Amino acid sequence: MIVIVAVLLVGVALVAYRAGGGEATASIIGKKSLRIGVKSDQPGLGLRMWDGTFTGFDVDVATYVAGRLGVGPDDLSFVGLTSKEREAALDDGTVDIVFATYSITPERKGKVTFGGPYYVAHQDILVRAGDRSIKNVSDLRGKRLCQAAGSNSWRRVTEERKVAATLVAASNYSECVTALKEGRMDAVSTDDLILAGFAAANGSGTTMVKAPFTNEKYGVGLKKGDVEGCQAVNRYLTEMYQNGAAKTLLTEWFGSVDFAVGASVPEFEGCN
Ligand code: GLU
Repeated sequence: MIVIVAVLLVGVALVAYRAGGGEATASIIGKKSLRIGVKSDQPGLGLRMWDGTFTGFDVDVATYVAGRLGVGPDDLSFVGLTSKEREAALDDGTVDIVFATYSITPERKGKVTFGGPYYVAHQDILVRAGDRSIKNVSDLRGKRLCQAAGSNSWRRVTEERKVAATLVAASNYSECVTALKEGRMDAVSTDDLILAGFAAANGSGTTMVKAPFTNEKYGVGLKKGDVEGCQAVNRYLTEMYQNGAAKTLLTEWFGSVDFAVGASVPEFEGCN
């Protein structure tokens, strides 16, 4: 009897939870603190420093948006994520929001709600300094190309462009660049902002080809279904471009790159 009552009570509680919105309302709105997923190995975008803090454009945009959501710097915690970890980290609640060079793609839209984009990057190619055999994406045919786990960049080459490169697996882009320098790969192809950060690193021995061939819309990853949170994020991103804060951050982080960095508000994708 007691067991039956207990089971009934649990059932009633569950129904009430669902009726009250339950999981569907898991939103960044109203949170007192935020866990933010960022990259930890990409200079200029998301980089973990020796003292455990994170720096970069993504970190600063995240801090701006969080501030406008009512969560100040003291209540933010940054969590380093690889490309492969982003969807699961949002889904299982390891993080509340992701700012991690995260391109909005049709496939990812099935799992994640995306605010933004807050920037549109372009995929390019990094080679060893002095290598003149790769001038554009079609030259990657037959070359050893880095395949960073969970990233979309290699798909742009071998699946979308059907360029038959030989994929060599790595777990992130810093590993790709190390392998390139050591001669274990011939090319690393991903977003220009990412490549510029690595190429600028002292003594990197690499150069960017500067033959951009895609649009990478950097989205703000939110738990699937958080439309309200997404709309708020889009309001604050618009404001960030209108009040000059975006320009300041873009200049701070990418002021010395030798390719065009867009400074106007990107066209939003919509929150559904
Ligand atoms: N923006 C691309 C992507 O989201 C490449 C960089 C990355 O993996 O973070 O797949």
